[in-house]
This record gives sequence, C-alpha cells and structure tokens, in this order.
Amino acid sequence: SKLLHAQIGMEREIATATDELARKNAALEAASVAKARFLAAASHDLRQPLYALTLFSSGLAVDEFDPVRLNRIAHIQECVESLDHLFSELLDLSRLDTGAMKAAPRDLSLDEVFEEVSVNFRMVAEQHDLRLVVRTTDLWVNTDRTMLARILNNLVSNALRYTRCGGVLVGARRREDGQVRIDVWDTGLGIPKEHVDHIFDEFYRVESGPEAGRPEGTRRGLGLGLSTVQRLAGLLGTRATVTSKPGRGSVFSLTLPEVLPNPLPEAPPVAAP
Ligand code: ADP
Repeated sequence: SKLLHAQIGMEREIATATDELARKNAALEAASVAKARFLAAASHDLRQPLYALTLFSSGLAVDEFDPVRLNRIAHIQECVESLDHLFSELLDLSRLDTGAMKAAPRDLSLDEVFEEVSVNFRMVAEQHDLRLVVRTTDLWVNTDRTMLARILNNLVSNALRYTRCGGVLVGARRREDGQVRIDVWDTGLGIPKEHVDHIFDEFYRVESGPEAGRPEGTRRGLGLGLSTVQRLAGLLGTRATVTSKPGRGSVFSLTLPEVLPNPLPEAPPVAAP
C-alpha cells in the first residue's frame, strides 16, 4: 500500500505539472497573438503618414530646381522608402505569426513570376550600376504565386543591396527528381562562414559598415527579410538554402515541384460555311 500511495502522489504531481504547462502554453499563445496584433496595427498605422510623405515629397521635387534641395528631397524619399519596406516586413511577420497567410498553390509559369521580379528591380539595378539578368526558363511549377513572388523579391532585393559591382542573375533548371531549382546568384559581398547558419534567423544581421556602399541611413534592414523568406518557403513545402563565398558572392536557392505547361486554351472550332 506504500507503493500505491507513492504512485498516487506521483500521478497527482504529474497532473499538476501538466495543468501548469497547459496554463503557461495558453498564456504564451495569447502573448504571441497580442504581439502579432500589435505589430499589424502599428505597422499599418505607421504606413499611413508615409504615403502622405511620399506624395508631398514628389510634389516638392517637381517644383524644385536647386540641385542641393533636389538632392535632399531624394534623400527624404529614400528614407521614406526604407521605412515603408521595414513596415511591410513587420506586417508580413505578424501575418505569418497569426497564421493568416495560407498557401494557395496552382500551376503557373515561372517566367511570368520572373518577369514581375525583373520589372520590380530593373530601375534599382540601373541606379546602382548593377546588371540584373533574369533568364527565361519555359518551366512550370505548382506553387502559390504571391508567396513565390515575395520570396524572389526579397532575395533579389538583398542580392542587389549586398552587391557593389557586377550584378544579379535569376535562373532555374529542371532536376532529375521532378523538382525545379530556382537560383538567385549575386557577385556581392558574400556571407562570412560563421554567419551563414544564422542568416535565416529572425532579426539576425551581419554587422558591417555602410551597406554595399549605400548612403548611411537608407535601406538598413531589420534582419527580417530572410526569416520571412524561410517561413514562406515552409508554407510552400520547401526550404531556402544558401552557399556563399565572402568577397565573391552568394547563391540563394529553393526547389519547387515541376508540372507540365498548361496547354493554351483550345481555339473555337471554325464554323463550316
Ligand atoms: P536585412 O534586412 O538585414 O537584409 P535579411 O534577413 O534579409 O535582413 O538578411 C540577413 C543578413 O544576411 C543581412 O544582414 C546580410 O548581412 C546577410 N545577407 C542577406 N542576403 C545577402 C546577400 N545576397 N549577400 C550578402 N549578404 C547577405
């Protein structure tokens, strides 16, 4: 009966501990939802005045002829753009945290997504004297279009930001196992070995001087871009990977299931005369 007593005592302790754990879990979950809600509300509200700033500063630029003032306006615009980018990253993160983002995969032409990315960054590349080459592939994949575009936009934006000369190449090729491998290559700064394993972590940044020669204070990241990339990749059932040579450049890759191209819609039958 001593044994039975001990066993009952132990069972009670386990039950209490389990209850406590459940309570702590619930509290943690509530805190995480509250954090995500706060992030969403804050970044949404903070973006509103930015729209006004964008509008007014472009109005100022139109009326301005003094090169010094024009330069200052351009700097304001860059800062506004940078803030907007940060807020959109925070918004993405909170959407990911609340599970509000769901993948809706369908068959799509990779070239269409590539074209979108190419249009988004053509000007940025030109402004920084970098080459941006996006190779057509004729490949089709089954995935969520918006999420894939987000991933590629993030990777290309990084590739351009961390490259001083040369450029960025986006391409894809078919693998033996029915997957398509997408690569974003750059001839940039590269990532030191001790940092490579951490760059997909939330808020992780490689500390360096002014980024890729960009003016100080503009386009500084929060270290959220790649963690968002990795979480989106997770929702698409894949994972982003990187190989990098400091001083030479980096390649960020991911694979997606290949599908056969959708046939063009059938032409209506020609009516007999
Ligand atoms: P950030 O907003 O700082 O760019 P990311 O999560 O996008 O945050 O990237 C994390 C870190 O990884 C960056 O601070 C940078 O040091 C490094 N990094 C990301 N992409 C590249 C790249 N293409 N070349 C070199 N370093 C990179």
